[in-house]
Amino acid sequence: EQSERDSLFIVSDFAAKHFQQRLTSHEQGAIGQSYLKQRGLSSNTIRKFELGYSLDEWTDLTDAALKVGYKQKYLEATGLTIAREDGKKYDRFRGRVMFPIHNVSGRVVGFGARTLKSNDKKSPKYLNSPESDIYHKSNVLYGLFQAKQAMRMQDMCYMVEGYLDVLSLHQGGIENVVASSGTSLTEGQIKLISRYTENITVLYDGDAAGIKASLRGIDLILELGLNVNVVTFPAGEDPDSYIHKVGDTAFKTYIKEHSQDFISFKTSLFAEEAAGNPVKKAEAIKEVVASISKIPDAIKRTVFFQSCSLIFDIDEQVLISEYNKMHLQGR
Ligand code: ATP
Ligand code: MN
Ligand code: MN
Ligand code: MN
Repeated sequence: EQSERDSLFIVSDFAAKHFQQRLTSHEQGAIGQSYLKQRGLSSNTIRKFELGYSLDEWTDLTDAALKVGYKQKYLEATGLTIAREDGKKYDRFRGRVMFPIHNVSGRVVGFGARTLKSNDKKSPKYLNSPESDIYHKSNVLYGLFQAKQAMRMQDMCYMVEGYLDVLSLHQGGIENVVASSGTSLTEGQIKLISRYTENITVLYDGDAAGIKASLRGIDLILELGLNVNVVTFPAGEDPDSYIHKVGDTAFKTYIKEHSQDFISFKTSLFAEEAAGNPVKKAEAIKEVVASISKIPDAIKRTVFFQSCSLIFDIDEQVLISEYNKMHLQGR
């Protein structure tokens, strides 16, 4: 007996293969291929991550799937086909490079899809599959299936924002890399990582807004007892653009030299902003103490209070009593 979920897996797999075939063997696929080449991706990487292309037509995938007998309800349940009220059907993904998203066991559960247009205000840069019985965004990490072995061997996981960051680092020899795909980290995603390693290094895009936005997600990593380091990149760069700019070797040196533990990073970030302003400094200290208080391990907490007291130039005891106060209030 085939379950409903099996049917969704099977139709997703069909779609991934269809998009791959369109990329490699359809005349329109040349547009997708040249885009990917221009982004610096090798045929090897394209094959390894099963990248594809969706034709710039309304029903290419839907027609192909129905023709070989896939049921429309499964095409709709995976979001591959959209049915309008008047009964007309069309493909969700059109004219886009397709990034299949795999679960831990390597089955396709959904897709990310990038437009080839660089500045089209009308359509979003990325489209994603909607949630389905096989695709729960909060429990999936892009690249995990391809990264998990390296994560275990290196005892470390690099966390990036986007699909292209995963692909470019992987191609550059950094295989222990996954992406949250633009959303903030969830508990489910962190627990997935912790099956393989307890060490996460976050590689932020080099923009202040992105960094601020991800601070909360990182507190969650601490709360779950994992160790977090961060690397920031020069303004306007992300890991993908930067590795192509400086090359694999210089990139690896850069992340080695710029990796710092999250608490020190956050402390310096807030201390800098608060410099010369006592009110701001007090707020900054509370912010950092709040992060440290998430760490379940008492010894680690103590070490971080020490380094924090140095950076803020404030007595360690003050930090600890602030911690105790928060702790009594239930954090
Ligand atoms: P590229 O290098 O192709 O421009 P990127 O990955 O650097 O893409 P960012 O703007 O840094 O793009 O976004 C990071 C991630 O956030 C993307 O890879 C994607 O998963 C997600 N994302 C970005 N824009 C959108 C969007 N409009 N809709 C849905 N997800 C998005
Ligand atoms: Mn970004
Ligand atoms: Mn980016
Ligand atoms: Mn990018």
